[in-house]
Amino acid sequence: MNEHLEEVEALRRRFEAELAAGEVSAAELLKDRRLKDLLAAVKAKPAGQRRAFGRAVNDLKDFLTSAREEGAGPATEPLAYLDVTAPFGVNQSETAALLDPSHGSLHPIAKTQNELVGIFARMGFEAVESRQLDNEFYMFDSLNFPQNHPARDEFDTFFLQEKDADGRALVAPAHTSTMQNRVLKRLKGRLEKGLPIAVVVPGRAFRNEDVDSTHDHMFYQLEGIYVAEKVTVANLIATLKEALSAFFKQELELKIQPFYFPFTEPSFEFAISCPFCSQAAACRVCSGGWIELLGCGMIHPNVLRMADIDPTRYNGFAWGLGLTRLTMIGHGIEDIRHFASGKLEFLRQFKA
Ligand SMILES: [Zn+2]
Repeated sequence: MNEHLEEVEALRRRFEAELAAGEVSAAELLKDRRLKDLLAAVKAKPAGQRRAFGRAVNDLKDFLTSAREEGAGPATEPLAYLDVTAPFGVNQSETAALLDPSHGSLHPIAKTQNELVGIFARMGFEAVESRQLDNEFYMFDSLNFPQNHPARDEFDTFFLQEKDADGRALVAPAHTSTMQNRVLKRLKGRLEKGLPIAVVVPGRAFRNEDVDSTHDHMFYQLEGIYVAEKVTVANLIATLKEALSAFFKQELELKIQPFYFPFTEPSFEFAISCPFCSQAAACRVCSGGWIELLGCGMIHPNVLRMADIDPTRYNGFAWGLGLTRLTMIGHGIEDIRHFASGKLEFLRQFKA
């Protein structure tokens, strides 16, 4: 009798005790590290001891195998409920449970969007959802981009292989203005009743960008559309000033400068005074106390004509505000790539 045979005996007594206590299953004991070591040691034994030792170890293994077939060990009753979509741990209980909602929170961009849609709702704007796939008519033609006009290059986005009914490629919208024609056509009946068309369109925009800390191939915008009789640039400025001051909870100064968009005339680039600095000290959010925030302008007569609205009678303004950029400014977020990273450390910072 050598020491290894004694060890096999000791191991067998331990296994028997553990099975009797019902703490562990025979299947688990078959994976026991010590048993594996002993099985591996058989080959290395001198010829004289190999037979006896090999038989002892294999007997132990057979004992566990038959115990497994008899179902020794803790009972494994199937759970009454199994929620395959639940995270780990939830199915350990007898009944499936949903996670406590306090585990999650709204994405910071969703918060910005909800807040702004709320502000504009109080100003009389209804919200219409944007599309994530559209066609060239809504992306370009309806917005006064003539075919082959170089301004189309400014809105470099993604074209699909799938075609629309006219045989033209579908497009991932490069701005939320793709909804303008639909909104104007759907709501133009209001104008005859003396009511304005006042709509905001939150949604995703796609651009063929090289991704870096300030550029992404997808970002969120909030489009605004207002059409009525005798609308002026002053209405445009007052509306945006009011809404953005409400968002930043302070009275903001504005700076507008001329710009070019095919779908507005005149067009403006719109900057607000920095809500975070005195405009004298250097600040990492603004440049010289100003933050360029959005593009806007008076809706081009051709855009109204495309929606069968008479531009000699009605006019209006539109804007495209970057929700992603606004969220970065509001929270001092230095890298746009955090938003879609799925990193919990990032998201947890915005828990209310
Ligand atoms: Zn500043």
